[in-house]
Amino acid sequence: MQTVQIVPAPGEGSAGAATKPSVDGPRRVFLETYGCQMNVADSELVSSILRGDGYERTSDPGSADVLLVNTCAIRENAEERVLGRLSELLRHKSARPGVQLGLLGCVATHQRERLLDRAPYLDVIVGPDGYRDLPALLRQGDDPQLEIRLDRGETYAGLTPDLAPGPRAWLTVMRGCDKFCTFCVVPFTRGRERSVPVESVLAQVAAAVAAGKREVVFLGQTVNAYRAGDVDFAGLLRRTARVPGVERIRFTSPHPSDVGEAMIAALAEEPKVMPYLHLPLQSASNRVLEAMHRGYTIDAYRSLLARVRAAVPGIAVSTDLIVGFPGEEEDDFAATESFLAEAAYDFAYLFKYSAREGTRAFRMTETVREDEKQRRLARLIALQEQIGLEHNRAFIGREVEVLVEGPAKRPPGFVAGKSPSFKTTVFPAAGASAGDLVRVRVQAATPHTLTGVRVAA
Ligand code: SAM
Ligand code: SF4
Repeated sequence: MQTVQIVPAPGEGSAGAATKPSVDGPRRVFLETYGCQMNVADSELVSSILRGDGYERTSDPGSADVLLVNTCAIRENAEERVLGRLSELLRHKSARPGVQLGLLGCVATHQRERLLDRAPYLDVIVGPDGYRDLPALLRQGDDPQLEIRLDRGETYAGLTPDLAPGPRAWLTVMRGCDKFCTFCVVPFTRGRERSVPVESVLAQVAAAVAAGKREVVFLGQTVNAYRAGDVDFAGLLRRTARVPGVERIRFTSPHPSDVGEAMIAALAEEPKVMPYLHLPLQSASNRVLEAMHRGYTIDAYRSLLARVRAAVPGIAVSTDLIVGFPGEEEDDFAATESFLAEAAYDFAYLFKYSAREGTRAFRMTETVREDEKQRRLARLIALQEQIGLEHNRAFIGREVEVLVEGPAKRPPGFVAGKSPSFKTTVFPAAGASAGDLVRVRVQAATPHTLTGVRVAA
């Protein structure tokens, strides 16, 4: 769950012409999701809650009775983008009396009551812990309905999310975060850390398998802080590997401070746990790491990376880095750039620092100008492109097993899927379709994609 992107809802379409809301029959809901995979998974929960109340999903906002946008507050541009999108969707509400417009997710808990000034046309504003109340709030009528309380007890246990099509199920196993990195809004928008009971996770895994999924991805802001009773994250991985029918297990995002030897052993010993680890670093300068309140030094991180790579030879590793944190000097940045070269990640999600109200860093004076942030970001991107290309070129001539997700964006006639180390791999379809596990010989590589041909069975 690393990069902020627009994640289209299944079948998300254009705005469409104004048509009437449903008069008879089920009420229709248009639900659009922004942000990380946790938001996508939350939308799947919302969809299931509303379906339980008699709604059906539509990909056409022009025919919806209820328009909902699930929002992301992680960086300022993400937040502004969703507010812009809401004002676009407003025309459907203005054109058709009775249509309701709602904002869900992290912007609700970040902006709180201020949203009523910024978007007074909203009918419902619901934070990440209030989704069970959504049907009742939508029934209440005229005044804007707010449910922005954070609830330490809410894990949505017992609900079965409406999983999106495709061979992979994204399942939230823990919610919230207790780390309070000084730059991050998550502990404020999603509240304190709590884990979904293990029985509920395993039931969701079994339901996903029964629905035809071959891979599960466990989600949590610090997913490896998972603990339910006496089951820790390593235990959860091992128990999941025993669920009949599961073929691939992944997870994101683990926090470096919570990676213990038991977790590394599970990665090394459980063949269904895929050889890929996202290990967010943020900065390689100890001064900046401390100011960020990350809880590790660069030496501790380096040693962890070495232990993981020794235990799981060939494991792919990715990271998150932020440039331009308040007080980041040229030599702090140089340390990050040099570590990026040393660590040789398979890929990296690279961000410019964005000041977020409510965080501790928000009160720090910003010392890095926007053009300098941009320059630092561009240097890291250029370096990582080279490193990613080298990693991917090393696959040329090798075989990888690909879980096919569907048609590739290009070229025509190709399908795309992921290798065990989460590399996007494309190859001529020749009868392969979503959900197939196919052996592919890699013939070419770019920094982000492997291209190959199917190996005869
Ligand atoms: N919990 C994960 C961790 O600590 O590694 C990351 C979750 S966060 C939603 C995803 C990434 O967004 C972070 O790792 C960080 O790099 C980036 N991020 C968070 N707050 C940011 C901010 N204020 N400005 C820029 N990037 C930010
Ligand atoms: Fe944010 Fe830090 Fe928690 Fe990750 S660990 S969600 S960056 S506070």
